[in-house]
Amino acid sequence: MKAAPVTFTPPLQIAIDGPAASGKTTVARLVARRLHVLYLDTGAMYRALAYLALQTRTDVDNGAALAHLAAVQPIAVDIDEAAPLGFRITAGSRELTDAMLQGNDVTAIVSTVAAHADVRAAMVAAQRRIAVGSPVVMAGRDIGTVVLPHAPVKIYLDASVAARVERRRAQLERAGVNVDVRHLRQEIDERDRLDRTRAVSPLEPAADAHVIDSSDLTVEGVVDEICAIVARLETRAQ
Ligand code: C5P
Repeated sequence: MKAAPVTFTPPLQIAIDGPAASGKTTVARLVARRLHVLYLDTGAMYRALAYLALQTRTDVDNGAALAHLAAVQPIAVDIDEAAPLGFRITAGSRELTDAMLQGNDVTAIVSTVAAHADVRAAMVAAQRRIAVGSPVVMAGRDIGTVVLPHAPVKIYLDASVAARVERRRAQLERAGVNVDVRHLRQEIDERDRLDRTRAVSPLEPAADAHVIDSSDLTVEGVVDEICAIVARLETRAQ
């Protein structure tokens, strides 16, 4: 049977979604590096707003107040491959570090902050502005379904809870954050539950996403698989 034609309209956009600690950001950054395109971890933007909410004692159940906070202290992302995160993120005039964004206090509230429609509207608009005109690899929860629904490559990266807990433990240790594995598992379960059941843009694979279970794959193995998907698409588009 003849393959259906692919309308591959540049620029290349690669959407990588998946649950907490599925390895999205590590994989997304490496894919971007290999393909020489921009990389953005959208989770950092929601974490930045959660951090600001803590700093300003803003009620995390008040979507309008959170959206107001994002308007008065805009969260800006500057792509910079040389920066530790692969980009610099500022709130107002202050640069936020990985340690600030990955702290347990931020992680505990970020999914509540991210569930508000007002907050998501502001974040999605900012994310789309970053993607305009440039090839990009964007990691998050709603990239293939909402932010870049026409992305020619969509990946839903999953992994068993045990594999995700172990990855998150290693990531936090590297960031210098104290880890209690039992607490970590509860936190991941709870965040998944909130992200999957929220009314606005719940976490789910896009209908046209390639689902990859990375539980038994190395990071390099996942990166290879995604780059092979991109290469196949480019070949078909030529
Ligand atoms: O990816 P990370 O675990 O850093 O994301 C933190 C939280 O931000 C997620 O648990 C989710 O609630 C929210 N998020 C989101 N949409 C995105 C990226 C992250 O709702 N595109």
